[in-house]
Amino acid sequence: MPATENSIPPNISCKINIGIPAQQFIWTNAVLAGVKPVTSIFSINLDIWEEYISWILDNDSLLAINLDEHFLVIASGEKLEEQVSAKSLSQDKPYYIKIPKSELPTEFTGQRIIRKTSLKKLITPKIRYKNYAVQTEIIISKQLSTIIKIIKAEIKEDKKAKGSAYGFPSCCIQNYMKKGGVNATSELLLSLIEKGIDKSIPPEIWVLGHIPCSINCKQSLEIGTRLLSTIKKSKDAWEKVATWLGSYHINFSVGRRFIDYVPKTFNNEIRTEDSSTEIIVQRGNILRPYSYVEYKSKNHLLKINKDIMGEKVIKYTPGKMLQISSPDKKRNFIKIDTSFISRKYRTRNILKTIFRPYSCKIN
Ligand SMILES: [Zn+2]
Repeated sequence: MPATENSIPPNISCKINIGIPAQQFIWTNAVLAGVKPVTSIFSINLDIWEEYISWILDNDSLLAINLDEHFLVIASGEKLEEQVSAKSLSQDKPYYIKIPKSELPTEFTGQRIIRKTSLKKLITPKIRYKNYAVQTEIIISKQLSTIIKIIKAEIKEDKKAKGSAYGFPSCCIQNYMKKGGVNATSELLLSLIEKGIDKSIPPEIWVLGHIPCSINCKQSLEIGTRLLSTIKKSKDAWEKVATWLGSYHINFSVGRRFIDYVPKTFNNEIRTEDSSTEIIVQRGNILRPYSYVEYKSKNHLLKINKDIMGEKVIKYTPGKMLQISSPDKKRNFIKIDTSFISRKYRTRNILKTIFRPYSCKIN
């Protein structure tokens, strides 16, 4: 796919790592720049929701929001004229189309367009997370037909069709289907550890929307290079993306469950509680979480909300436990250990990869 010119609005780039997680910014930007056919993103702060939608519509693209019973497609009148032959639309307004999940049409006609609406009205209570974020699946593409392909594959739970609609390399799709997401991820992380590059990971690997079948997967590296090159054109955006890449990515569970933080000091304070347990304590500036999640049980706590951002104390023992608390240690945000991991994943190799920070090498 040849890249097209797209400009990153300053009101979006200044919110990377604050209102929009860096990966979700990177993937959106890649679709708008024409180097990625489609993407799904999952969490954006409410205060940039309107700017975010406008950025998509201004770049000749459309988006579908996953609401429980249907998908809500938002498009400009001009874009709809091109894709669904609705001749009477005024071109400057955004429109929305409801696609019921139960009866997915193969082709759209103008009659399915419900009405034009303001972007503000599209923030429904269903997709609001505690009034500060929009949190649901949002699919973005330049083609309605590509979005429909993803929705159909999701309904049929057809992982292969979904992966290929996203443009992921077939070797990586096969690897994912054979091993499952958790094992495919932990094997990749383990190979980074074994090669001694878990703190100097090639950024081309870390920006991907899929799990590469290996750290040498040629097609994945090419995709990663394209994703990054579209951002490097904008100094402001690249600075923020480089901050995220070069930050520490510590996993609080199996699969891709990371918290990103910029360490305040590289002189770790290491405490040994008994002869076998090494506890590493760090201060760090936590960036916008990939998505917000809160969970509490007798022994575990996940309070990944907007308050986790900013300076915190990160305390961990690789493979054993992770704790994140406020600098005065009065408030806990994360408190988990091995017993948090489902029994079937508590293997030696998987445990080796969790509760430990990874980082990329930025040139
Ligand atoms: Zn591959």
